[in-house]
Amino acid sequence: MKIQFAAVLAALSIGAFVAPAAAQSPPPFATTKVEGTDNVYIFRNGGHQSMFIVTKAGVIATDPIAYGRPTGGQTYVDEIKKVTNQPIKYLIYSHHHYDHIAGGKAFKDAGARIIAHKNVKTHLAPLGDPNTVLPDESFDGKKTITLGGTTVELLYLGANHSDSNIVIRLPKEKIVFVVDTIPVGTFPGRGMIDFFPVETESFIKKVVALDWDRLIPGHPGQPAGRLGTKQDAQNVLTLYQEASAELKKMGQDGKCWDTAEKEFKMPKYATLPGYEAGLGMVARRYCGLWGRGT
Ligand SMILES: [Zn+2]
Repeated sequence: MKIQFAAVLAALSIGAFVAPAAAQSPPPFATTKVEGTDNVYIFRNGGHQSMFIVTKAGVIATDPIAYGRPTGGQTYVDEIKKVTNQPIKYLIYSHHHYDHIAGGKAFKDAGARIIAHKNVKTHLAPLGDPNTVLPDESFDGKKTITLGGTTVELLYLGANHSDSNIVIRLPKEKIVFVVDTIPVGTFPGRGMIDFFPVETESFIKKVVALDWDRLIPGHPGQPAGRLGTKQDAQNVLTLYQEASAELKKMGQDGKCWDTAEKEFKMPKYATLPGYEAGLGMVARRYCGLWGRGT
């Protein structure tokens, strides 16, 4: 058994190869090209992932995803370098949460300009996290980046999972990168700590109304790391609406917090990964709304 375990560790440590014995354990990180595109890639590290686009004039990367992984930013830069010799021109933050944007220093050192919604800097500047680099440029509303024949739209469509989440859209490829607000095939939960329940419903409707076919989520879609569709976005909207309606009753009946957190169930979604762990967090956030008005 010892030998097998060592083989698994060896396979994991190089990150690109999985021995048959380790078929159950995915490598710690991986880079894959998005099927049907010329130049769109997904970099996954652990349970987080981000999108990068290679153009003939440079690379546009998103989220370093290196929280708790001190070398994760450099790993991502190295993975990009395996695909192209082009310089990394931009690093775009999906939102301000450290689990997605810690690790930007390696990109900054490689010459990238960091762009984010204006609320990213507002939240993070006072905190001074040593692992997270502040944006070089902030925007609100819409910003379009054109590089080497590729157009990338950055859209702020109102508060949602936080008040800094943007939609990153590739008009030609009909792909959107949306982090945390629209989980693909998993139950929401822990990420709702600073979630905006009312605004998120109109946000998802706006996302669905955009022109796209595939959604790259910030955590691999289930099952098998799949990408999302408009149906997935619609399903998440329905889930939030059902949770909100149920907790509205409980909130107005005086059951928030403790009783609601104990009694709230969504049996229809019980088979989704994350259901048991997420249920209490969903109840708590909507209790905030319907039990406290916040
Ligand atoms: Zn988040």
